[in-house]
Amino acid sequence: MAKYIFITGGVVSSLGKGISGASIGKLLQIHGFKVNMIKFDPYINVDPGTMSPYQHGEVFVTLDGTEADLDLGTYERFLDVYTNKSNTNTAGDVYRTVIDRERMGYYNGSTVQVIPHITDEIKKRFTVFRDEYDVSIIEIGGTVGDIESLPFMETARQFQLENKKEDVFSIHVTLVPYIAGARELKTKPTQHSVNKLREIGISPDMIICRTEHILDKPLKKKVSLFCNVKENCVIEALNVPSIYFIPEEFYKQNVDSLIIEKLKLNPKKKFTEVWFKKVRPTKNKFCKEVKIAIVGKYANLKDAYKSIDESFNIVALELSTEIVIHYLRAEDGGLIEKLKNYDAILVPGGFGNRGVEGKIKAITYARENKVPFLGICLGMQCSVIEASRNLAKLKDANSTEFDETTKYPVVKILDGQKNIQYRGGTMRLGSYKAKIKENTLAHSLYKTTEINERHRHRYEMNPKFIEKLDKLGFLVSAYHEEVLPEIVEVKDHPFFIGVQFHPEFASRPMKPHPLFKGLIDASLKK
Ligand code: GLN
Repeated sequence: MAKYIFITGGVVSSLGKGISGASIGKLLQIHGFKVNMIKFDPYINVDPGTMSPYQHGEVFVTLDGTEADLDLGTYERFLDVYTNKSNTNTAGDVYRTVIDRERMGYYNGSTVQVIPHITDEIKKRFTVFRDEYDVSIIEIGGTVGDIESLPFMETARQFQLENKKEDVFSIHVTLVPYIAGARELKTKPTQHSVNKLREIGISPDMIICRTEHILDKPLKKKVSLFCNVKENCVIEALNVPSIYFIPEEFYKQNVDSLIIEKLKLNPKKKFTEVWFKKVRPTKNKFCKEVKIAIVGKYANLKDAYKSIDESFNIVALELSTEIVIHYLRAEDGGLIEKLKNYDAILVPGGFGNRGVEGKIKAITYARENKVPFLGICLGMQCSVIEASRNLAKLKDANSTEFDETTKYPVVKILDGQKNIQYRGGTMRLGSYKAKIKENTLAHSLYKTTEINERHRHRYEMNPKFIEKLDKLGFLVSAYHEEVLPEIVEVKDHPFFIGVQFHPEFASRPMKPHPLFKGLIDASLKK
């Protein structure tokens, strides 16, 4: 029998519902259960693919090419699963499905309404993994009280009513703020938030309190009393140095046992603490520090490059190295001067020409000074522009994304992308195979000739210029179907790699991605 855990949030957004849910999922996995997670976002965008990273952070790409909320990255990294289209839902997508059906005459004359038509569609999506997984963890985005998330909350209420008590567990994640003046933690926002949830008809089984200070017993008692949850189900979620410590923190508070008890689950494996140990870095006083500069557009918004950040965290754990990441805005002055303080440079993906010239300058600096460099997607395309201008002396070479009439279109739009009517969901998306040439840096890193990596772009390196650049030591070391350049590298450089795909989506704890690991290895050797 499939079980369902609902995660809602209150007081403020960004409390880490995804991380809390994924941590619980991890604990249940260690008990031997098959766990999957589903995200429901209340916005009207059909998917986050057309949204600026300023609004919702990075767009995560699944193997099947779905442009998804960044929480799916958290699910993949914690649970070591592959998500797909069914793991991500938005209000826009739900409404579109129902409206398309209405247009096709499916509803046969009835008035189409939020209840039951929209809620029935949501319910269907709650249960997509029913037959394959023991537990589905359902995360409802936004905070309780938002107008947009109401249909999802209402569906969760109906779902509770229609299913057995032992099949549904409800968790509310809230904030218990510390008021410095009074030197006190305050539970009132949590009380209000839970009241709001109960108004909708959902009574949480557990409350996870995000807090900067320890919740003492009287405080837990207060939350318990006012919010109608058992005292041992008031869970403290303190800030921790790494998100991968959270499963252990929850385990210490019996979060897994409390859920297992209410859901009447029978653990399938003896619980071991091996995973906890693996994600705890071994303390090494003499461990080296590597400083990485990420030269991009969204310097002030860490979530915009979430998977890149996590990829480095995972390598840091693996190599017991301290990796310090600084985000430098490509368009700011004094960039090259600043870069001199770093051991390696990464230029990430991006769209539009803001900062492109700065990125190209950073790449010239990395190439000429033999600074380890990784270019991802737009970063790779910029490295092609850089080599064309400065090695091949093709003056003003460019991508047609930034200069449509350039004399040397060394990066051009992919065939099939020219007459796109809809911007959403139409890029080259998802996993594609590539073949790596032997005796290349890429081959020495991947140690295989066949790879599968995730894409999200409309432009590619123009094959017309491959030969010219190859002769100058800038080579293509991997192709898709022998035509599309997938990896470029510079000969006689300790580490200079550009990839048309996004390796950051494939990193997992204990399974660092070879390109990120390679970049750090090269920086350590410097
Ligand atoms: N703007 C470039 C393209 O569409 C790169 C995209 C990216 O970096 N994800 O091809």
